[in-house]
Amino acid sequence: MKKAMVVFSGGQDSTTCLFWAKKHFDDVIAISFDYGQRHRDELDCAKAIANDLNVEHKIIDASILGQLTENALTRDSIDIEEGESYPTTFVEGRNHMFLLMAAIVGKQLDAKHLVTGVSEADYSGYPDCRDNFIKSMNVTMNLSMDENFVIHTPLMFLSKSEVWKLSDELDALDYVRENTLTCYEGVIADGCGQCPACELRQNGLNEYLAEKEGVFIEQ
Ligand SMILES: [Zn+2]
Repeated sequence: MKKAMVVFSGGQDSTTCLFWAKKHFDDVIAISFDYGQRHRDELDCAKAIANDLNVEHKIIDASILGQLTENALTRDSIDIEEGESYPTTFVEGRNHMFLLMAAIVGKQLDAKHLVTGVSEADYSGYPDCRDNFIKSMNVTMNLSMDENFVIHTPLMFLSKSEVWKLSDELDALDYVRENTLTCYEGVIADGCGQCPACELRQNGLNEYLAEKEGVFIEQ
C-alpha cells in the first residue's frame, strides 16, 4: 500500500497536488504548518478542503519560523513588494523546513512519499522551490533518517496555466477555483485581483481557458 503525505497550504498549487496524490496513492495525509501567517484564514481554508476531500489533516505548530525571520507573510508591517533579490514574501528556509518536518511526521505514519507543489517554472525563483534543491533534499533526508523517502513535485516544470490544466484533468478545476486561497490579501477563490499572487493565478487561468476554448473551436 502506497501512502503519501502532501505539504498543504490550502492554495491552488497544493490543493491541485492533493487531488493528484489522491489519484496516485492508496492513502493520503495532508500536513499544514501554522507559522503565524498573515492570514489565519489560510489554515481554516486548508482544514475545509481536507475535510471536503476526506483526507486526514495534520496541523503542525511552526511558529518558530516567525521568530527566526521577519517577512511580509508573517508581519503586517512589511509590505509585499520586490525585494533586493527576492520579493518580500520569500521566507528563507520555509520549504526546506516544511519538507523536513513532513518527512519526520511521514516516517512515523509510514508515509514515505512526500508531495509538494513547488515549481521553478512560473514563480519568483525562490531557491528552495527549485528541482536541484528538492533532489538534494531528498538525498539528505534519506541519509539523515536512514529511510527511502521519495519527494514528488508534480508541478515543478508547469506554468500557472498548465497547473490549471492539470486540475482540469483531475476533474478539479471548478473546485480549486472556488475553494482555494492564493491571494496575499486573504481573499478566497478569485482573490483581490490586485496582488502578485492573484495576478499570476488569474493570468494562468485566462491563458488556460482561452487555450481550452481554442481546442473546442478546432473540434
Ligand atoms: Zn490578491
